[in-house]
Amino acid sequence: MKHQGQLQGKTAIVTGSNSGIGLGVAEELARAGAHVVINSFTDRVEDHALAADLAARFGVKVRYIAADMSKGADCRALVDQAGGCDILVNNAGIQHVSPIEDFPVEKWDAILAINLSSAFHTTAAALPGMRARGWGRVVNIASAHGLTASPFKSAYIAAKHGVVGLSKTVALETAGQGITCNAICPGYVLTPLVEAQIPDQMKVHGMDRETVIREVMLTRQPSREFATTVQIGGTVVFLCSGAADQITGTTISVDGGWTAM
Ligand code: NAD
Repeated sequence: MKHQGQLQGKTAIVTGSNSGIGLGVAEELARAGAHVVINSFTDRVEDHALAADLAARFGVKVRYIAADMSKGADCRALVDQAGGCDILVNNAGIQHVSPIEDFPVEKWDAILAINLSSAFHTTAAALPGMRARGWGRVVNIASAHGLTASPFKSAYIAAKHGVVGLSKTVALETAGQGITCNAICPGYVLTPLVEAQIPDQMKVHGMDRETVIREVMLTRQPSREFATTVQIGGTVVFLCSGAADQITGTTISVDGGWTAM
């Protein structure tokens, strides 16, 4: 059946999308009719099966391409192997928590590479094709930690602030060319990784699910509700719509009020 969605005929690449927010974004783009390339650094049967499953569910073409976003050459090869893209979502990211004096140098390097430099490489590789077609969307998944800080997350916060700065620069370099570049800044999002922490937190604090979420996990999120991967995906789809043609070089917070405090 031919897809009738608003992004029909567009091709999207979503980095780090075999789980969590990336997968949610890939699903919403596919639901809107885009062909999607999903990615991670693994090359397992289940990664390719996930692509086949999305294709069957949404009636679009979906490919899985393995590429390690900690390596610049892999980032550029991902875009080349995809044959370019109309929509680039830089989502791959990792975290490490430690006081700065003890922060392992290899963790600092890996976080900067995956969370920030990968977006530099994929964007550089994707822009020529977008310019040739006169249309493009670059959406970087930053974080509330791209706008505010917390202790013990020096690399993550430096990288996410960097992503916000990179988004503004790319917006200026592409302004008036049919291309926009923005950063989405999620607060705490309910991903499988976060979901898995809830039973432990309930045990540690002797609280029920609702109380541990409200009183322990979401103390910085005034809504006391998680954002969802569907909401992040929906925000990406909005940024790909005509209504967002003049939205560029900015951030959209999806954080239940975190950054209003
Ligand atoms: P996740 O661990 O579920 O997803 C991370 C994805 O990146 C996975 O698909 C993983 O395979 C991939 N990845 C990791 N290293 C990679 C590499 N070297 N090469 C390619 N892919 C790699 O986490 P998530 O919560 O879905 O996070 C996705 C993005 O959203 C990250 O950039 C994260 O910083 C950001 N974010 C998450 C939250 C949250 O509360 N979950 C909040 C704000 C921002």
